[in-house]
Amino acid sequence: MLYCSTRDKNKTFTFEQIFLNALASDGGLYVPVSIPKVTQSEMAQMSKLNFSELSFEIFHKFTGDTFVANELRTIITKSYSVFQNPKIVDLKIIDNIHCVELFHGPTLAFKDIAMQVLGNMYEFLLKKSKNKMNLITATSGDTGAAAIDALKSKPYVNIFVLHPENKVSEIQRRLMTSVMDKNVFNIAVKGTFDDCQYLVKEMFNDQVFRNEIQMSGVNSINWARIVAQVVYYFFIYFQQGASKKEMIVSVPTGNFGDIYAGYIAKQMGLPIKKLIIATNHNNLLEKCLNTGLYEPGKVNPSISPSMDIQVASNFERIIFDVCNQNTTRVLTLMNDLKVNKKFKLSNDELGKLKTTFLAFSVDEKETLETIKYIFDRHNIIVDPHSAIGFKALQKYNNFRSEFAYFCFETAHPCKFPEAIIKAINYNPQIPNFIGNIKDKEEKFVVLENNLDQLKKYIQSKVN
Ligand SMILES: *Cc1c(COP(=O)(O)O)cnc(C)c1O
Repeated sequence: MLYCSTRDKNKTFTFEQIFLNALASDGGLYVPVSIPKVTQSEMAQMSKLNFSELSFEIFHKFTGDTFVANELRTIITKSYSVFQNPKIVDLKIIDNIHCVELFHGPTLAFKDIAMQVLGNMYEFLLKKSKNKMNLITATSGDTGAAAIDALKSKPYVNIFVLHPENKVSEIQRRLMTSVMDKNVFNIAVKGTFDDCQYLVKEMFNDQVFRNEIQMSGVNSINWARIVAQVVYYFFIYFQQGASKKEMIVSVPTGNFGDIYAGYIAKQMGLPIKKLIIATNHNNLLEKCLNTGLYEPGKVNPSISPSMDIQVASNFERIIFDVCNQNTTRVLTLMNDLKVNKKFKLSNDELGKLKTTFLAFSVDEKETLETIKYIFDRHNIIVDPHSAIGFKALQKYNNFRSEFAYFCFETAHPCKFPEAIIKAINYNPQIPNFIGNIKDKEEKFVVLENNLDQLKKYIQSKVN
């Protein structure tokens, strides 16, 4: 199994290389040279597996010689042993829609499902090579907590997390800043998530700095995260039992990582009919699907802060495919984005995008109404991101008995109490295992949105 950059197909890399590098040195994203297929007989086998076993089978197709089978199995088993719900991913049905609970990990969002595996992979690989690495990531609220939980106290790694100051929920912040381990560094940046993401990308693109501090990243651009997320598309397909209907999946989307994993699952052979990009009012992806024009604007804060994103970094991977993997074309579009702050897909490229993807944005009012609707009818509380996924499916409004409809629940509602209180006047309970998070001491620094200052801070902590 080999990988290349979306901007250069001539150089190839192993899984270990792309895992540790995270972002290609030419600024592109790593993608597999070819996507492994799952045969019908493998599907039959896989349908009998629990989540952890299925995860092993899928990862094994992507990791090449990086791990021997038993090492990989141990990494994955260990990763899912920390989940509260032994099923890892659970489902419930609301109005004929399978709602997929992806929030049973230690920090209550779907990011845990991939991040726990990444944490144990870093530990394994760095122990072997005795290298120390500094992981730097930007977070819109949930990645940071998941990364910190997965990496705290691990030898050979420091984890630096940039979050936009005052733009994540209190619980989201506390899940990050109440961790006191010496290898954890929280940085509140005076800016937006896109600013944070830009700062991290600039550090990655500075080869001298990157080598000096042995930098790596766990942002949703890390291919291993995509693989971990491919697993639950297969898992939920098998949960249908005998019926095996083609799937329509609505995915609350920000950085385009979770939904891109669905696209990969489809390439591997999973019968997915459509993937619905569900966004809040930061809807550049919806506009792109309508017009072909990809034009990031200013982030407009919302009650679904984990999706307050205008630069969907994984989108370059799908661009690579709709451009028939023509790297010259990818480079042209990415250069347009850099210079003109936008690019336009051709009709042919847009058509390819639309064969799999649909997009609906959901505004604040609709989000609150949806939380209330589900609560009133079913006595179930969903978080605002999940409500957006649900509402997008209702907007699609094309329910047919030959398809199975799924909606991802990406976070536990207790992470966003303000929105829930506003919608249904009820303060959602924090699960007991989280403990008294509101009384815990917090540790973080506040920095300007300034690359040099940030680099100096990181260097001072690394050396
Ligand atoms: C990260 C996140 C999303 C968006 O996922 P992407 O992979 O960035 O598209 C949606 N909902 C929640 C709760 C998240 O934390």
